[in-house]
Amino acid sequence: MLLEITVPTEERFQVVDITDEVQHLVWRSDVTHGVAVVFTTHTTTGLAINENESGLIEDIRAKIKELIPEEGNYAHNRLDGNAHSHLRATLLLNPEVVVPVEDGELTLGAWQRILFIELDGPRHRRVLVKVCGC
Ligand code: ZN
Repeated sequence: MLLEITVPTEERFQVVDITDEVQHLVWRSDVTHGVAVVFTTHTTTGLAINENESGLIEDIRAKIKELIPEEGNYAHNRLDGNAHSHLRATLLLNPEVVVPVEDGELTLGAWQRILFIELDGPRHRRVLVKVCGC
């Protein structure tokens, strides 16, 4: 069963903790042992697993901006002006994370959270979750 989370973002760059939503979908899936594949369906967003701590989120935002600045002589900007967002998603992030599921629970470490990273908001975003038994 393919499940889905809607993530409405309000800022240009925003980190949204979707761990609780993913856990609820795992419970709905009736899979007790397997994996949860979480996949963002967009070219200017990414997923990561890390700590949801406000200082760290600030650091992530600053480092992403430093590594790939908004201003640049980007060819894609001839089309829609968001080349930096695509580059950040492609070169710095992944479209998916995979988390083992045991006894119906995501087996994340104590400080690990599933973070959805908006790079070109605000928009309504769609994240797919596939829970497979194995
Ligand atoms: Zn674009």
